[in-house]
Amino acid sequence: MPHIVVLGAGVIGLSSALRIQAEGHAVSIVARDFPSGSETIDAQSQINYTSPWGGAHNRLVPPTNPAEELEHAMSLRTFDHMRAVQARHPEAGITFMKGIEYLEAPNEAYRALTEERAHTQLGMKGFRLLEKGELPEGVEWGCEYDTWCVNPMVYCSFLLRRFAILGGKVLRREVRDPREIFSWNLEAGPIDVLVNGSGIGFGDKNVFITRGQTCLVANPCPATVTRQNADGSWTFCVPRNFDGGTIIGGTKEPNNWDPNPSLEVRDVLLQNFAATYPQILDGEGKFTVIKDIVGRRPTRKGGIRLEKEEVGEAQTIIHAYGLGGRGYELSWGVADGVARLLAEHLSSSTPNKGEAKL
Ligand SMILES: Cc1cc2nc3c(=O)[nH]c(=O)nc-3n(C[C@H](O)[C@H](O)[C@H](O)COP(=O)(O)OP(=O)(O)OC[C@H]3O[C@@H](n4cnc5c(N)ncnc54)[C@H](O)[C@@H]3O)c2cc1C
Repeated sequence: MPHIVVLGAGVIGLSSALRIQAEGHAVSIVARDFPSGSETIDAQSQINYTSPWGGAHNRLVPPTNPAEELEHAMSLRTFDHMRAVQARHPEAGITFMKGIEYLEAPNEAYRALTEERAHTQLGMKGFRLLEKGELPEGVEWGCEYDTWCVNPMVYCSFLLRRFAILGGKVLRREVRDPREIFSWNLEAGPIDVLVNGSGIGFGDKNVFITRGQTCLVANPCPATVTRQNADGSWTFCVPRNFDGGTIIGGTKEPNNWDPNPSLEVRDVLLQNFAATYPQILDGEGKFTVIKDIVGRRPTRKGGIRLEKEEVGEAQTIIHAYGLGGRGYELSWGVADGVARLLAEHLSSSTPNKGEAKL
């Protein structure tokens, strides 16, 4: 039985590990960071572990080029899988709800989006264009559709537990270079293939971080709401549920390494969201702030790296990193891609089972 090692226990490593496990392979996960309660994840020492700091919601974006079409297909695949997992495992940390989009200055792709195209060509379930009277002040275009949010650490802990109960092995280690793993003596035996789900890869010059500051509040919200402002900034919320509060966001700052949240930014985020969706405020018209969050989206020029590389004799790596701000929403599509590359490498024609056993 082939032994596959997955480097990384973020949403990408965990989803890939479960997906490969379903092919009948022995799978081990090696990582520096593993999911745990978000209350105890350390904001400073674990800032480079992105998965705890994500929202995380699924937003459907009308694709305008082949790369975006591929990502759209991955997000639809993830949507279907999330629906199935949520039905079988209500404890997994997934909630289905409406996604509401408000745009102050929609581009042509949004302006041209009809309900017919959204339903039949883009597979957006429950899609509806909003009437002018339903839009907040300053917003020119809006829609709603069915989507999902996860409580990230509830969800990732669930994935890790499933992986372990299905026989997966787990090892907490930090590596300098993924190639060192090929010489390890692991419980499950010699390594056939390594999957690199390390978030930013190793020395990839195309990778950079996109800082995101958000604020976690206790206020519940029935929908995930996103407003794209005319100046390029974003105003959004992501209800985490499962006692995880609601994320109010957020900034997108390429190459900003500052780990410290700014209180001024927090105030702006909360004010902007309250102006967009005042229903979120409590009976006294307030937010209850739990904490500020800073995360680093693992972004890559040219998009995700999802490909096989031979790095030495009988040393094959399948790379799956550089997910930027879409790691959760594309996760099961990426996991399928990893399974396909692995099956091709191991010379079977196609992956044989097609679903992670969740
Ligand atoms: C503020 C914010 C909001 C976001 N909102 C959303 C959202 O709403 N929807 C969405 O889909 N995405 C969202 N994202 C993006 C999403 O969180 C990321 O795309 C995703 O978490 C990346 O997952 P990953 O598994 O690739 O990387 P990571 O979560 O960073 O995991 C990397 C893993 O590799 C391990 N690793 C790395 N280097 C080493 C090493 N040298 N040795 C051993 N182990 C190593 C780490 O320990 C970790 O286990 C958001 C991100 C931020 C910051």
